[in-house]
Amino acid sequence: MRAVIALAVMLVGVPLLPAPPVPENHRELYIRHGRRSSNLIALTYDDGPHHERTPELIALLQELDCPATFFLLGDSVARNPITARHLIEAGFEIGNHSMTHARLRRLSRDEIGEEIDGLEALIAEAGGGPSHVFRPPYGISESNRDVVEEAYGERGMEIVLWTGDTEDWRPETTVEQVVDSVLSNVQGGDIILMHDIHSKAVPATRVIVEELRARGFEFVTASEMIEDLRNPPPEPASPEATVSPSM
Ligand SMILES: [Zn+2]
Repeated sequence: MRAVIALAVMLVGVPLLPAPPVPENHRELYIRHGRRSSNLIALTYDDGPHHERTPELIALLQELDCPATFFLLGDSVARNPITARHLIEAGFEIGNHSMTHARLRRLSRDEIGEEIDGLEALIAEAGGGPSHVFRPPYGISESNRDVVEEAYGERGMEIVLWTGDTEDWRPETTVEQVVDSVLSNVQGGDIILMHDIHSKAVPATRVIVEELRARGFEFVTASEMIEDLRNPPPEPASPEATVSPSM
């Protein structure tokens, strides 16, 4: 009996990374921002790649020497495999945003796993992966414990949401409004959500990067933001601590 179970486990397959246990409250694992006392900002772009806009964005981010994370969609990668390869070769962080942009909480655990793994296979074909970050389509409203178990528990991917939605996907939103939504309330640790399938991402990104750098912020990938959150740098010693005691 035990041998049968062991065989079944082998056939199911081994997770890509060691599987940390999902806490009782799985919502603790959703990451909406990094360390607030940092000066770090993460730019993230969802639903691509797009055959025209993503190359424009790659060129701009390279010109600005600015890292970013692209949460790719399987359907978009299947349509634009060369652009996906270009993104990976250019060194941008790739995240998993599911195969079909499904409302994952309505699916079985097996189907959720297929949504993740279908895209991972395409990312691997394009020369990348495995992805370390996963963003559920529609965010927390269409996610649940099963999604966290599959992405984080089984595959070791961090679940990354966003701090504020720029709403660049709404047709009526202007580039100025996208920029203003980021700049007006910006804090260290912000994870900014845009979409490289919409034309506003390119002009908005230029203004956001130039303005926030002028204010002293630094851009990092989503994974770097999480690493800083989990392992913050030591606090600088306070002036009192360096003064010798007088007694
Ligand atoms: Zn999306």
